[in-house]
Amino acid sequence: METLFASNNYKNVLPFPLKHQVHLIGALNRAMEKDMVATSYILEGERGSGRYCLASQFAKALLCSYRNSIPACGECVQCKKIEKGIHPDVIKIEHDERYIKISEVRYLAGEVYKKPNEADRKVVIIKDAERMTEEAVNSMLKVFEEPPYNVVIILTVVNSSLLPATIVSRSIHLFMSGIPTQSVVEHVVEMYGIDRDKAEVLVGATGGDTGLIDEIVKDDGLYSSITKGEFFNYVVGILDPTKIVIERERAKKLILMLLNYIRYRSDDFEDDTYAKLLYLLGSTNELLIANINVKVSLFRLMIELKEMMTSTKGGIGV
Ligand SMILES: [Zn+2]
Repeated sequence: METLFASNNYKNVLPFPLKHQVHLIGALNRAMEKDMVATSYILEGERGSGRYCLASQFAKALLCSYRNSIPACGECVQCKKIEKGIHPDVIKIEHDERYIKISEVRYLAGEVYKKPNEADRKVVIIKDAERMTEEAVNSMLKVFEEPPYNVVIILTVVNSSLLPATIVSRSIHLFMSGIPTQSVVEHVVEMYGIDRDKAEVLVGATGGDTGLIDEIVKDDGLYSSITKGEFFNYVVGILDPTKIVIERERAKKLILMLLNYIRYRSDDFEDDTYAKLLYLLGSTNELLIANINVKVSLFRLMIELKEMMTSTKGGIGV
């Protein structure tokens, strides 16, 4: 750990979750050093463990002009372009939609057989690769069976058992370490200079997702309502389409925050109410992902919530 992080001549300091993935980073660095990089990697781990983050860092290290090791230099043209998401030799599928479609994978499978544009290899990153439809997976199999020599494929997954055996058996399978809750709390205290008890609420209510924590801390309304225990009603107020109809991506993010928050406060709900809320928010999320009109989706949510509130003694005061 000392040798990896203590000397920071490199401005590209590793993001928080990766400080807990030292063994994996060591393994990837050794492979690059010995020029024994495999064609395909599976990075498996829970949400918040830094899978996608590690994939991006690995891509930078593979293409960096000065330092083929994680963390890469962060300063060269290759690193900068990857950071901005504009490197022509890094092909990504990184959206959060429910499925990865065959058209997306077909495009990618075509690209990998073309020569790299600027670097000496291409890197393919597929986020949550288990979302590939069966057709999408099938159109990808050839790439695994006859891999082009100068391509590195990185699949990040929560659950690799949903991938076909052909893909798993032809990949180096790496498991991310879980990050201890207390370690995330310490990171939040240090990063934002906030009290420990507030940090504990934030970490608990987001399932330790540092991306969500960052968004909440930077939004005065979300932050003050979560620390006062009024998060649920505050967020429902933002989602209410009779006031302002918010954008789809923002609605999805807020619903995700509510789902995490409700799980965190599960003891404060009657079993029935808890189950109904999870179902209701989950199904609203599905509608938003399926591109159903935002106003319609949120309107349905509001009607159902109102009904629940009138039938639940004392309302939902969290
Ligand atoms: Zn670089």
